[in-house]
Amino acid sequence: MKDRKLLMIPGPIEFTPEVLRAMGMATTSHMAPNFIEVFGQALERLRQVFLCPSGQPFVIAGSGTLAMDITAANLVERGDKALVVNTGYFSDRFAAILERYGATVTQVRAPAIGDAPALEEIEATLKTDSYKLMAVTHVDTSTAVGVDVKGLAALGRQYGALVVVDGVCAVAGEEMRQEEWGIDLALTASQKAIGVPPGLALVVAGPRAMDAFRQRKTAVSNYYADWTQWLPIMEGCESRQPRYFGTPPVNLIWALNVSLGQILDEGMEARFARHRRLSEAFKAAVTALGLRQVPVSPDKTATTMTAPYYPAGVDSKVLKHIEEAGVILAGGLHPAIKDRYFRIGHMGAVSASDILATVGAIETGLARAGYGFEAGVGLAAAQEVLRSA
Ligand code: PMP
Repeated sequence: MKDRKLLMIPGPIEFTPEVLRAMGMATTSHMAPNFIEVFGQALERLRQVFLCPSGQPFVIAGSGTLAMDITAANLVERGDKALVVNTGYFSDRFAAILERYGATVTQVRAPAIGDAPALEEIEATLKTDSYKLMAVTHVDTSTAVGVDVKGLAALGRQYGALVVVDGVCAVAGEEMRQEEWGIDLALTASQKAIGVPPGLALVVAGPRAMDAFRQRKTAVSNYYADWTQWLPIMEGCESRQPRYFGTPPVNLIWALNVSLGQILDEGMEARFARHRRLSEAFKAAVTALGLRQVPVSPDKTATTMTAPYYPAGVDSKVLKHIEEAGVILAGGLHPAIKDRYFRIGHMGAVSASDILATVGAIETGLARAGYGFEAGVGLAAAQEVLRSA
């Protein structure tokens, strides 16, 4: 019997056997020609996955928070104005990081938890001042709110702000066309839809972001995050010239290159479509089971994850029952509603059978928690979507 449970949290996710094999390989020198070839190829592939042919990719050891930190450290100078489109916990974090590097931050907050600020409200704020940078969380993992990145990026551009997207819970799952949509910088981490164990901060900076960095009047105040150090490393790898600044996480980068190859083999359009279809199936199941979601409407909802409220009479103890039925889910994260909802990640290599296994385990868990519903109704709703697609 397999004694593994299915990990369906919004990151880290389930990784493919090929990616995990790369993690277990004998570690090479970080200067070895075969590693530099792999690192260079991973950088080239990142441009394709972010759909940003003119972007400068950075792959640096650290988590998604470091990718946010790198962004703020390199783009912000003391006194710069930044606008944060706030949809939850991770937007709060971005605002705090921008402030740490000296930005004066204006936040436009969602009118309610589970909602996103209206484009009109963002435009009204952009009109009132001259913002150097606008930060957007594509999917706020605390609420499963997904924003209209395309519309927001167009607005930011129109008013001359650098558009920065925290795509930690989005890149390689949610549709995001960095260059076409005018996004100046997009960032993510390895452990979510990119499909690699935790440990890599990934940033793709477009030409306007790189220009803003080059035109800085003051030095970057964070030594490790400074692109002055990292740019020669990334450029060196792409021209297959080994250079050293800090020892790169060799196996993680090997695994990244494997995963990016798998992502591009599937194709970005097919990948976006698969994420949409599986999300639709899962959300249909949740609705059929009578569970309300945190996002206030389908157009404000992520495709990489789902955040349902517990139904009446059920609390977080149901997660234990679901785990006993074989699937690990995550509890709430947004402090205001933490104990009232749970979170499911369905991104990366996720399959239709993972969706059905998860819905089945949720049904078992809810039944054990004493919730009354027609057995199988969630599974039927998910299968209906999966059949028709
Ligand atoms: N932004 C978003 C949207 C996230 O979901 C996360 C992680 N859940 C982060 C930033 C921070 O990433 P990490 O935990 O890898 O530092």
